[in-house]
Amino acid sequence: MQDNTGRTGYFLNIWRTVYTILVGMRVSLKYCFGKTVTVQYPDVPPVLQPRYRGFHYYEIERCIACDQCARACPVDCIYIEKTAPRKVDKEKGVAVGGAMERYAIDYAKCLFCGLCCETCPTSCLHMGNIHDMSAYTREDMIVEFAELAREGWQTPQPLWMEKEHVGDWASKRQQDWREFAFSNDNLSGDPVARRQAMLDALDPEKMAVKKVKKETKKDSE
Ligand code: SF4
Ligand code: SF4
Repeated sequence: MQDNTGRTGYFLNIWRTVYTILVGMRVSLKYCFGKTVTVQYPDVPPVLQPRYRGFHYYEIERCIACDQCARACPVDCIYIEKTAPRKVDKEKGVAVGGAMERYAIDYAKCLFCGLCCETCPTSCLHMGNIHDMSAYTREDMIVEFAELAREGWQTPQPLWMEKEHVGDWASKRQQDWREFAFSNDNLSGDPVARRQAMLDALDPEKMAVKKVKKETKKDSE
């Protein structure tokens, strides 16, 4: 082990401190003297990498409310409520059993770390490509995904969605969200079936009907 005591050690420490600061500042200094670039957002789309971690996409109809995402979350910002246990019906590719009463994420706390998505056993939670959400209060930072699902959305919508004239890139993205272009299960490509499955996931009676139907089938056998 190197001896950093004495006069030599004193100057060695100073040199190391200066050197590490210079190494750390190298990238910043390069940009300080580089050409300034102005991105004309929102007229021009922001360049987001494929691995970008934005506001989540949530496929409620495939969620089994297992709480694994909530347990993996380092800041406890996922809230889940269900009427009864849920499991995936492999034939239909959607979850059955209880109804989803609540699935919410508090974005005032979320770190966008992606741990919740990695742990999801049904791959129904994804980091999305929405980066521009804002709100005036902390309460408004809580996104109620079950309520969004009632309106046919898998992800919160940024304010520019409400504008009449949005740029070409933004209207294309809007269209993709409407058509569930980012979904990856066997309901993709059929927005009507998808919206119905989302509504079913919220409806305890629909789930109960499925159960009764199953029991009736058993009796007749
Ligand atoms: S881990 Fe996936 S399936 Fe389980 S509650 Fe979270 S989103 Fe739903
Ligand atoms: S991205 Fe990270 S902080 Fe945000 S909800 Fe998921 S696990 Fe929690």
